[in-house]
Amino acid sequence: MNLKLQQYINGEWVDAISGNTREIINPFNQEIIATVPEGDEADTKAAIAAAREAFDKGEWSSLPAIERGNLVKKIADLIERDKEELAHLESLDTGKTMDESRGDMDDIAGVFRYYGELIDKDGGELINSPVPNSISKVVHEPVGVCGQITPWNYPLLQASWKLAPALATGNTLIMKPSEITPLTTIKVFELMEEAGVPDGVVNLVLGAGDTVGAELSNNTDVDLISFTGGIATGKKIMQAASVNVKKLALELGGKNPNIIFADADFKVAVDQALNGVFFHAGQICSAGTRLIVEESIHEKFVNALVERVKQFKLGNGFDEDTQMGPLISAEHLAKVEKYVEAGIEEGATLVVGGKRPEDPELQKGFFYLPTIFTDCTTDMRIVQDEAFGPIITVEKFTTEEEAIKLSNDSIYGLAGGVWTNDIAKAERCVAKMRMGTVWINDFNLYFPHAPWGGFKQSGIGRELGRLGMEEYTETKHIFQNLKPESINWF
Ligand code: NAD
Repeated sequence: MNLKLQQYINGEWVDAISGNTREIINPFNQEIIATVPEGDEADTKAAIAAAREAFDKGEWSSLPAIERGNLVKKIADLIERDKEELAHLESLDTGKTMDESRGDMDDIAGVFRYYGELIDKDGGELINSPVPNSISKVVHEPVGVCGQITPWNYPLLQASWKLAPALATGNTLIMKPSEITPLTTIKVFELMEEAGVPDGVVNLVLGAGDTVGAELSNNTDVDLISFTGGIATGKKIMQAASVNVKKLALELGGKNPNIIFADADFKVAVDQALNGVFFHAGQICSAGTRLIVEESIHEKFVNALVERVKQFKLGNGFDEDTQMGPLISAEHLAKVEKYVEAGIEEGATLVVGGKRPEDPELQKGFFYLPTIFTDCTTDMRIVQDEAFGPIITVEKFTTEEEAIKLSNDSIYGLAGGVWTNDIAKAERCVAKMRMGTVWINDFNLYFPHAPWGGFKQSGIGRELGRLGMEEYTETKHIFQNLKPESINWF
C-alpha cells in the first residue's frame, strides 16, 4: 500500500507517542489491510497545541480568503487526480462497491471545489445603520481550533464536509477519523500536505473515541467540535463540550420514513425505495428504512420489493457485478442480528432475509441478507431504533394525516421522502414532516449547495451549503462612528 500509515501533527508524519498500533481489517474477508498508529490523549494534546499555535500565531487565518479558497480548490484537483486510488482504499476499508466509492470521491472533490469558490463570495455585509454618520458592517471570522470526529460509514465523505469549510474559513483543525476506517482520511492529509497547507493548520490523530475523541471534546484549547456519528456518542460529546462552552455541530443518526402513496409512479417508487435503503448495506444515516405504504397498494408493493431483493448480488466490492457488500464489522453484524430477532419477537412478519447468506464464498465477510419486515407498528424497536443495516420495515396507512403522523413518530428527524403524483398532496405532507431534508419523488439525493442536518435528536447545526460554512465562523458586528461627539449624559 503506497500510503504513509502514520498520524500527521504539526506538518510531520509521526507514530503514536506510546508506540501502540491497531490493525485495520477488510470487512469482506477479515484480512489485515494495514497497521496504523493508535494515538491517545498525549498525541491529541500535541495536535491541539500545534493547531492552537498555528491559529494564534500563524498567518493562516488572516490570509486573503481567495488564497485559502485557491488552496481548497487545489485539494479538489488532487482528489480528482487520485480518485481511483482513493476509491480503492475506501472499498478496501468499508467493503462498499467500487462504483459507490467512485461516486463518493466525485462528491468529495465537489465539496472541496464548492467551498473553495464560496469563500471568495463571502465579503461580509453592510448594514443600513440607523445612526447618522456611521458605518455598520458584519464580518465572519474563523472560530479557531476545531476538533472534527467522523464515523466509519462514509469515512472520507463525512470528513470532506468538515475539512473543506473549516479550511476555507481560516480555522485550524484536528481530525479524528473512525478508528476502523482511517485509510482515505490519511490519504487526504497527504494531499493537503502536497497542496501546501501550512504546518499545524491540519492535524490528524488516529485512535479510539474514548481517548482521542474524548480529549478533543474535553480540551479547553479546542473552540469547536464537529461530530458525525451515533446519538449516544453525540450526547457524551455535548456534555464534555460544555467545559468551555465549545461551539457544537452534531450530525447524528436517522430512522427515515419514506411515504408511498397509491398514486405514485409504482415502478420508480419500488426502485427508489430499494436504492433508498440498500446502498452500502443500509449503513447510511439517511437510509429510508421506514417504508410507509398506502394500504391499497401495500401487498403489490411489498411483493415487488421482495422479488427484486431476492436477486441482489452480494459479494466483494471489487467485483463488477456486486450490488451489496458486507457490514462493517463482526460487532455491527451482531447488532443487526439482534434487531432482527427483536422484530420477530415483537410480532413483525419477516418476509425475506433475516439471516446471513449461505454462499460459502461470503462466510469470511460480515454479510447479512437484505431483509424486509411487514406488519410493523411504531412501538416496535425495529421501527424506532437505528439498526443501521439492510433492513426495511413496512407500515400501512389509509389517510394522508395518518401517513404524516407515522412519519413523525420518531425521536429522529434527519430525512424523509414522499412519493405521489399529486403535487399539492406532496407539498401538504412535506410542510408537516419534521425533518432536515425531505425529498418529493426522490430519495437520498444530496449535493454541496444544499444544507444537510437533522431536526429533533438527529443533531444540531448543518453541514454543506452556506450554513455548513457558517458553522465554522464567528459573526462580528463592527460599528464605526465617522463623526464622534460627546453625549454629555454624565
Ligand atoms: P459512533 O458514534 O460510534 O462513532 C463516531 C465517531 O465518534 C468515531 O470516530 C468514534 O471513535 C468517535 N467516538 C466514540 N466515542 C467517543 C467519545 N466518547 N468521545 C468522542 N468521540 C467518540 O458512530 P459510528 O458507529 O462510527 O457511525 C454510525 C453512526 O453515525 C450512525 O448513528 C449514523 O446515523 C451516524 N451518521 C450520521 C450522519 C449524518 O449526516 N447525520 C452521517 C453518517 C453517519
